[in-house]
Amino acid sequence: MDFSSKLLENAVYEMSQLPGIGKRTALRLVLHLLKQPEQQTNHLVEALSKLRNEVNFCKTCNNISDTEICEICASPKRDRTLVCVVEDIRDVMAIESTSQYKGLYHVLGGKISPMEGVGPQDLNIVPLINRVKQGEVQELIFALSSTMEGDTTNFYIYKQLEGLKVATSTIARGISVGDELEYADEVTLGRSILNRIPFENAIKAS
Ligand SMILES: [Zn+2]
Repeated sequence: MDFSSKLLENAVYEMSQLPGIGKRTALRLVLHLLKQPEQQTNHLVEALSKLRNEVNFCKTCNNISDTEICEICASPKRDRTLVCVVEDIRDVMAIESTSQYKGLYHVLGGKISPMEGVGPQDLNIVPLINRVKQGEVQELIFALSSTMEGDTTNFYIYKQLEGLKVATSTIARGISVGDELEYADEVTLGRSILNRIPFENAIKAS
């Protein structure tokens, strides 16, 4: 791509670093912003920069939060004996939108993926095990996507829990293998949480 301006080229380059944004889309977005009032770009830059500088992760569940402990963990209405293990905040949002789940969450921040160089130590797994050791949690619900990476992560955590007094279950899927949790419709996802199955059974079935 030949640019008539170095400023334009830099902006397009930075935009194209985002996932799913190729050079052409990046150019379209940058030109769009140029056509809008300057204020709009400033608001976008400010919102991103404020998020980046001030973002906070809940000390209990690792969910993105504006407070030290997130609203879900702080709520007296939630069942503190039940913890749903998810990959990231999108899964929390998807499950919350079903209004079927009243327990707490634990956000891992990804899943084990040797291909992408993500090992157990890169995820929020040790804090999860420590949380279980504190004794309040009676059941962990694995709700990672049913991909090879998701299954590997579930199994790794399951092994780390050996000897600890906690039940493990996995969400029953009306969702086909490889589907990401965030794309499941609310009814299916809500039902799959209510109809969860013991993790031991899920390992035997696969
Ligand atoms: Zn929290």
